[in-house]
Amino acid sequence: MSFDLDLFVIGGGSGGVRAARIAAAEGGARVALAEEYRMGGTCVIRGCVPKKLMVYASAFPGQIADARGYGWDAAAGGFDWPRFRTALEAELDRLERAYRSGLTGAGVTIHDTRATVLDPHTVQLATGQTLTARHILIATGGTPFVPDVPGAELALTSNDIFRLEALPRSILIVGGGYIACEFACILNGLGVQVTQYYRGAQILRGFDDEARGHVADAMAAQGIDIHCGADVLRMERAPGGGARVEATNGTDRTFDAVLYATGRRPNSAGLGLEPLGVQFGRNGQILVDGYSQTAVPSIFAVGDVTDRIALTPVAIREGHAFADTVFKGTPRQADHDLVASAVFTQPELAAVGLTEEAARDREPIEVYVASFRPMQTLFAGRQDRALFKLIVAQGSRKVLGCHIVGPGAAEMIQMVAIAIKMGATKEDFDRTCAVHPTMAEELVTMKKPIRRS
Ligand code: FAD
Repeated sequence: MSFDLDLFVIGGGSGGVRAARIAAAEGGARVALAEEYRMGGTCVIRGCVPKKLMVYASAFPGQIADARGYGWDAAAGGFDWPRFRTALEAELDRLERAYRSGLTGAGVTIHDTRATVLDPHTVQLATGQTLTARHILIATGGTPFVPDVPGAELALTSNDIFRLEALPRSILIVGGGYIACEFACILNGLGVQVTQYYRGAQILRGFDDEARGHVADAMAAQGIDIHCGADVLRMERAPGGGARVEATNGTDRTFDAVLYATGRRPNSAGLGLEPLGVQFGRNGQILVDGYSQTAVPSIFAVGDVTDRIALTPVAIREGHAFADTVFKGTPRQADHDLVASAVFTQPELAAVGLTEEAARDREPIEVYVASFRPMQTLFAGRQDRALFKLIVAQGSRKVLGCHIVGPGAAEMIQMVAIAIKMGATKEDFDRTCAVHPTMAEELVTMKKPIRRS
């Protein structure tokens, strides 16, 4: 049977772009890719990249305050949101062009339109055109999920934040995950009065409990009004503008804006996959095997739509492994073990491996903790504390997990992740000489466990 193409990729985000490029450039495949919004996907257009630039923007008031502690006669002026947003849009345009030229340079044909699947080898474009392909890759990512509360239509999602006409004076952020917490810190840093409601007992579920508490305390100390065990009951437009919000904690308050960051759902509905026999999980995620193959042999899926680990580098690796397997004759599975991650709150939280709670359920462990005021901010008069924590297996002596809260945590965890991935023991850490004076030297100088369990 002959096909128009070897591969049709639906979705021009982290996973789809990598798969298309490798299949075409290194696998010699005839490849087309459809993107219905903007090339680069969530990470580039409305996720990691614009968010990190906002993190940088929001850190300046703190840095300027620190500069005064160091003797500088410095003062933060006003923040010009339209000026920042214009520069941000120009940067995203540049990145989008780079993604496009990377694809076309590799020989991939781009269709700037929505695509759905008609049968195991046929894709239909919103333009009406149909194309056949030996393989179809679904890389459609995820979308923000807003629960069905009365007045939910008033809520912004993370997709809207980057394109606001003006910054609100006050905002309610609903949610306790990393995106909610990052935006709480960003907007707080930019001068917005931030309130955060999270229905669970502590923010940043899934991370180490001690690290979560540390970040929550630091956020509260910076003026973010965090309420755990609180959820929205209903919202309505307030007479003077903004939203009036009634919550389960008995409050009735008005905010200029409400941001829902209550999780993301795989973008799998309406693609035409159900009748073909593709299987879905409870969250709507496409079920795949280790090679990212669905129950329909010609259809594969990578990235957030499969809800394995919803992070850009993971989507990229899944896309790459798929292309290597199917088009380069080198079958391999993406490795989901010991994936490090970071939360760009202020202070940052970064982690790799097991939390203390997960580790002690598995085997006897030792816990090493250093908590201190970093030299740089202490000198400037700040009260911030950093936290370094290692979880060590009593039997094998392997370091099972590392959790860092503090400036530069994300950069540090990337290095620690290499050592832990290589199977480093606590003694390997101990015989590594410190770099002084740094914060990271704590990683190799923690001598006594603070507890065993
Ligand atoms: P996506 O990047 O979402 O790409 C999917 C693409 O498919 C989209 O462009 C969409 O328009 C397109 N599409 C969907 N349906 C169709 C269709 N039918 N036809 C054509 N096109 C279609 N990850 C990190 O690693 N670090 C971070 O710091 C980080 N920060 C984040 C911050 C925010 C606010 C958000 C929302 C996400 C963040 N992420 C972060 C997660 C990261 O962005 C995702 O894990 C990653 O983008 C997933 O890549 P993907 O290829 O699966 O999907």
